[in-house]
Amino acid sequence: MTAAASPSSTGPQHGLTDRLARWARGFSHKAEEEEAEEVELRPRAGTAASREINRRRQLYSEIGDFLFAHDLDLTPVNFSVALDYLTGANVGVEKAIRAVMMERGKITNGWLEALAADQRADEITPDGLATMLDKVEENLTQFTGLMHESRNSAKDYGAALQEQAKELSESSDSEPVLARLVGLTRSMVEKTRQVENQLRENQRQTQALKSSLESARRAAEHDHLTGLPNRRAFEAVLREETKLAQDGGEALSVAFCDIDHFKQINDLHGHDTGDRVLKFVAGLLAKISNDRCHVARHGGEEFVLLFRGKTAGETCEAVDGVREDLAGRSLVNRTNGERMERVSFSAGVANVLAYDDPRAALKAADRALYLAKEHGRNRVYLAAEAD
Ligand code: GH3
Ligand code: MG
Ligand code: MG
Repeated sequence: MTAAASPSSTGPQHGLTDRLARWARGFSHKAEEEEAEEVELRPRAGTAASREINRRRQLYSEIGDFLFAHDLDLTPVNFSVALDYLTGANVGVEKAIRAVMMERGKITNGWLEALAADQRADEITPDGLATMLDKVEENLTQFTGLMHESRNSAKDYGAALQEQAKELSESSDSEPVLARLVGLTRSMVEKTRQVENQLRENQRQTQALKSSLESARRAAEHDHLTGLPNRRAFEAVLREETKLAQDGGEALSVAFCDIDHFKQINDLHGHDTGDRVLKFVAGLLAKISNDRCHVARHGGEEFVLLFRGKTAGETCEAVDGVREDLAGRSLVNRTNGERMERVSFSAGVANVLAYDDPRAALKAADRALYLAKEHGRNRVYLAAEAD
């Protein structure tokens, strides 16, 4: 038994749970911090802050127009879905609303509520995670309690057995002592059976919790559509790999890839085909991933790759290989069998260790990507290290 599971060491259990719960709550705190920052930006006429206020005012009015046009009630759910739709912050919401508007032209309160519920079903809320952790903790406490109970009854049984055996050796009439021995053994067997059943149930619950936690963890770190790790998971990998590369004196480079004119692909062939193209590109990029090359979906039609042991120049070559492969293919729109125009991506690459902070390297790669777009797309650019 590990120290964490012993009843006298509630410290480590709480420590782990608290840390995880704090981590879970961190999501909501982050949102609060960001809001707080925005409040700080009170307007000074003509400043970026006042432009921001105007942009928000415009957004409020667009949300109002949207809700009014569809006769929707002014509820928090409707407001938040309208916000997601109008800012494009949630592609799932945007897609669903666009589809229903094309089909029926109008959106109803009930439909919007169902959509919001659907979105929430995929979400791992801090509260949900904290509840799961509480359950795990409860199960562990129960488990250690059961182990103690079982150990104590075995001890009691042993002591009683010894007592009876002593009496047996001293007594001339062994019959009543034997009867008590049989009784004792029966009750011990019964107790053991009960504890065993409880332990089995406890084990079953712990197993179920373990798998819920595992799928929650996977969902929190993976992108639903492509199955690739998401931006959050990538940021953790970037920190780890930076440390490994620094400690091991190895090269580390990052590449930002962005599909060219992806909006047009959606517009011409529909969102579902767009999704399939995303999955296809993700698959091509994933082919070059291994324990020294991590590929993730950074968001939308952007992917990010991290290569340990490859210089920025070598990374450019590797990414360019995938770029060439993709651009050389002629993809077919599965919906209507039509050949699609060339699908390509542009990329920017940076040497992570040339920057004080890996996030600065990401920004440099993003700037190189921007230049690759400006200079005609379907190309891979290397960031100048002074960037
Ligand atoms: P550029 O070459 O400059 O990158 O042009 P672009 O059209 O690729 O870039 P833009 O940022 O204008 O458009 C990106 C589009 O990607 C808009 C958004 O609707 C779409 N998109 C983002 N995520 C998804 C998704 O999961 N599925 C689909 N089908 N489209 C998505
Ligand atoms: Mg983009
Ligand atoms: Mg793009």
